[in-house]
Amino acid sequence: MSNLDQAPVPSVCGGRGFVVAEPVRELLSPRHVRLGSSTEVRRLLPNLGRRMVGAWAFVDHYGPDDIADEPGMQVPPHPHMGLQTVSWLHEGEVLHQDSTGSRQLIRPRELGLMTSGRAIAHSEQSPRSHARFLHGAQLWVALPDSDRHTDPRFEHHAELPRVTAPGLTATVVLGTLDGATSPGTVYTPLVGADLALSSGADVRLPLDPDFEYAVLAMSGASHVDGVPLLPGAMLYLGCGRTELPVRAESDAGLMLLGGEPFEEELIMWWNFVGRTQEEIARAREDWAAGVRFGEVTGYDGERLRAPELPALPLKPRGRVR
Ligand code: MN
Repeated sequence: MSNLDQAPVPSVCGGRGFVVAEPVRELLSPRHVRLGSSTEVRRLLPNLGRRMVGAWAFVDHYGPDDIADEPGMQVPPHPHMGLQTVSWLHEGEVLHQDSTGSRQLIRPRELGLMTSGRAIAHSEQSPRSHARFLHGAQLWVALPDSDRHTDPRFEHHAELPRVTAPGLTATVVLGTLDGATSPGTVYTPLVGADLALSSGADVRLPLDPDFEYAVLAMSGASHVDGVPLLPGAMLYLGCGRTELPVRAESDAGLMLLGGEPFEEELIMWWNFVGRTQEEIARAREDWAAGVRFGEVTGYDGERLRAPELPALPLKPRGRVR
């Protein structure tokens, strides 16, 4: 998915100054953002109070939306730089096409992982014939400086490792949870795990005390470390935890996101992650000029235009608020 905001605000993030070293329970409210005519998403990251969780730099939660008589998700070709995108569905399907020639239908609980490296373009669409409901999350992972100029690539993993406990099936989407590692390529130590809980489940997830964590609620009613969560909310948990108590009041779907605190300071604007204002401006110009990012040849229609760069100077800094 793209940041379709017509006047996107630059976000400076990363750096140790953002990280809470001890366990905390910080409830983040979503910002409602319209994507095109038919989709509204709840944006949890970047958030006013919090920009990143490990290398996770962007989290949108959408649906469940009844799209039976609608086109559903229709995101035209747009560029990315300096990040990976993770497509994760609970219901429906999304057709991904990109400028490396990938064309892949992504189904519920399959990983669509796109590494932009220095430059890629992609489109995301509900296929013409689609399920009635669309429900999922779109997440971005920032690439470290050592790997951010790598070649663009797309991975699709239909089979992912699972960790189970009574009332819990955890699917390891990316990184490692409890010794189980996703086949998706990662560039910094992190975890993204889908937690499917049945009503009444009462479990303790093993965590890495060196990681910072957050939990996104996607469905049902749950308590995470005692805090009640409803769909569309995210709870930031800080670092220093060896386990996390999770209780489900009904069948519930959560996403656990975590990672080693991201040391490098970043600038995020529109669909780009960079290190300097000049880099972001150059990426915008290259997209406008139709160079560098390639073509999404399978898409029938216009590509997205880049919004205007704000006049504000963009400088990375390391303060949370
Ligand atoms: Mn995108």
